Amino acid sequence: NAVVPQSALPRDVIARAYLSTLQTNLASNWSRKYSGSKQLAGTNLAMVNWTRDQFEEFGLKATIDQYVSYVSYPESQSLSLVKSGKPVYQATLKEDYVKGDPDTKTFVPAFLGYAGSGNVTASYVFCNYGTHEDFDILDSLGIDLKGKVAVIRYGEIFRGLKVKFAQDRGASAVVLFTDPVDDGNITEANGYKTYPDGPARNPSSIQRGSVQFLSQLPGDPTTPGYAVKPGENKSRSDPYLSTPKIPVLPVSSREIAPILTKLNGYGSKVANWTKGLIEGFDYSTGPNPNYSINVYSKQNYTYTPMNNVLAKIEGHNSHEVIIIGNHHDSWTPSAGDPHSGSAVLLELARGLGQLAKIGWKPQRTILFASWDGEEYGLLGSTEYGEYYSDLLKKNTVAYINLDLAVAGSNLHLGSSPLLYDVLKDTAALLPYSDTQSLLQHYRSVSGGGHIANLGSGSDFTVFLDHLGIPSADLGFEGDLNSAVYQYHSIFDSFTWMEKYGDPGFKYHNLMSKYVGLLVLKLSETKVLPLRTRPYSMKLQEFFDKAVSEVPEEWLQSKVFNSSCPHHKNITVSNIVDNVKLKLGKLSSKTTAFDSGANGQQYDFDHWDDLSYWQKFKLEWAVKRTNFWLKFYERFFLREEGLKGRPWFKHIVFASGRYTGYSGQQLPAMLEAVEDGERDDFVDNLVYFDKVISRLIA
Ligand code: GLU
Ligand code: CA
Ligand code: ZN
Ligand code: ZN
Repeated sequence: NAVVPQSALPRDVIARAYLSTLQTNLASNWSRKYSGSKQLAGTNLAMVNWTRDQFEEFGLKATIDQYVSYVSYPESQSLSLVKSGKPVYQATLKEDYVKGDPDTKTFVPAFLGYAGSGNVTASYVFCNYGTHEDFDILDSLGIDLKGKVAVIRYGEIFRGLKVKFAQDRGASAVVLFTDPVDDGNITEANGYKTYPDGPARNPSSIQRGSVQFLSQLPGDPTTPGYAVKPGENKSRSDPYLSTPKIPVLPVSSREIAPILTKLNGYGSKVANWTKGLIEGFDYSTGPNPNYSINVYSKQNYTYTPMNNVLAKIEGHNSHEVIIIGNHHDSWTPSAGDPHSGSAVLLELARGLGQLAKIGWKPQRTILFASWDGEEYGLLGSTEYGEYYSDLLKKNTVAYINLDLAVAGSNLHLGSSPLLYDVLKDTAALLPYSDTQSLLQHYRSVSGGGHIANLGSGSDFTVFLDHLGIPSADLGFEGDLNSAVYQYHSIFDSFTWMEKYGDPGFKYHNLMSKYVGLLVLKLSETKVLPLRTRPYSMKLQEFFDKAVSEVPEEWLQSKVFNSSCPHHKNITVSNIVDNVKLKLGKLSSKTTAFDSGANGQQYDFDHWDDLSYWQKFKLEWAVKRTNFWLKFYERFFLREEGLKGRPWFKHIVFASGRYTGYSGQQLPAMLEAVEDGERDDFVDNLVYFDKVISRLIA
């Protein structure tokens, strides 16, 4: 086969053609369509079929890919305040119907996916944000949660972990409420009108969501590490490893107020817990012996198919695949989460489909994924990743995630370090305003261009943490002075998006352009645009930080119980020093490697200047470079996974075990330090040493 020179590919022409299609902005059409559909996981087949048809209409080959998963649906729930055995206040657990927003007419039950069923009447305690530290403080105050209801505000960490920590301490139920203090400056207290009359939170808004123990195990709670397609007969495990047994209800700021104010003056006031905006509440912990609450929640637990839509544009090179995904299931109308992402995904498919219609075939295969069941626990993406793990590890170059693609106007990026450069280089190609490029804007809102570490809470998790595939997550978000995004409430609606979130769907359009150019760079550039030096820099940073937490006596101790004979007479600190040396070497090696890769790409761009022999050599060099880049992230996988949560196999990035959303870097080493497990620390240090040695070999 003749060598196809990169310069013969009209890359700029392709990019320009894509952008010109996107000059027509159809995002609001898709947003309106999706946010008016029935969309709860397992009940959204009409929307799924429509999505497949839409992909096909854009000229893509689309299929529906199903997994039978364990989920829960609400049957009935109630929450009341009880005094002397009698209910004295009953919450409606309903959001207000507001004039001017037709979506708020539909009643969406306030419930939490995978919460236990139960009917509990007990005294209750305010537990702040329900973090690990918050529960430690309650312990130190002698406030026993056994048999009580934990009343916890949203924020700081993933909601399911709040429930886990409360359940671990013997709580009989949990109530999760919204405190507008976390809405930044745009609050009623600061004089702003509430939605729909203004940008502040509607006081009736309720945050739904899953209470799965996300950092333990994402995906179907009954199939850890594997997946079940319809018709397959595979055994399932007990879901309670990653879901709660106790009932849990979500409630609005308005309806928790009469309950919390009964705690005023009872129990303790903890210094950092008293800042808040619940009307009349003094933020005492309680309990008040005169009042209890009744938490009643009945759910129906069942197995139902999750329907992913997969659509493909076959590339010349079908064993290098770029995946771009977004979920389609949701709790409420959800114009933001996930349908800002759904709209962008369709715009991307339209733009690239248009190129394909005029004869373009990408260099690499591009796969679009519209995932189901994300809200319950990343079900569709995780089951897909588990089912096709071998193939995905062999073929996938990168996974790009959209979810909340637009809820404001500040670009937010999180990714594997391998993708840092391409994310920034692509942002440099687009204008953000008359005076700023998207990259300049990003620098101004991200402390100079700092890209976040990925934790969890969206569909990139299986790709990065389980399969070792470089992943990124992109979105425009608000800041302290933006209209309040009413996450997982009925007010995440088309009308909110049109009026406050993204008037004119301008940022939807910009995101569609950005993602398109990113995918084109990943698929069309001869030398894969992954770069290794940023990884080596991050590894140094993470390692230094981890080592700074290690107790001095561990560092000075001998590694006598190591199984490795070479380590018999050396100290932990010797290994640490050795790893630091190797990380220094890795830094030089990656610098040289990246400049080689850039040089190869440059040569391809100047193909006509090369002799036949140079062309031949270049072809081989690029093959080697791309092979290395494609599998680089896989070096960080450790087959046995993290201690106590073997599904998480990446040794550098994981969902934080105490936070869920925000990640932990070098999790195994840090957790061993937190737990005082010296031998575990040494084992993971030695493993890390091995990985770095392979990377510099
Ligand atoms: N995005 C979902 C949430 O934050 C993810 C739920 C999960 O991973 O369990 O609620
Ligand atoms: Ca599974
Ligand atoms: Zn989402
Ligand atoms: Zn969500």
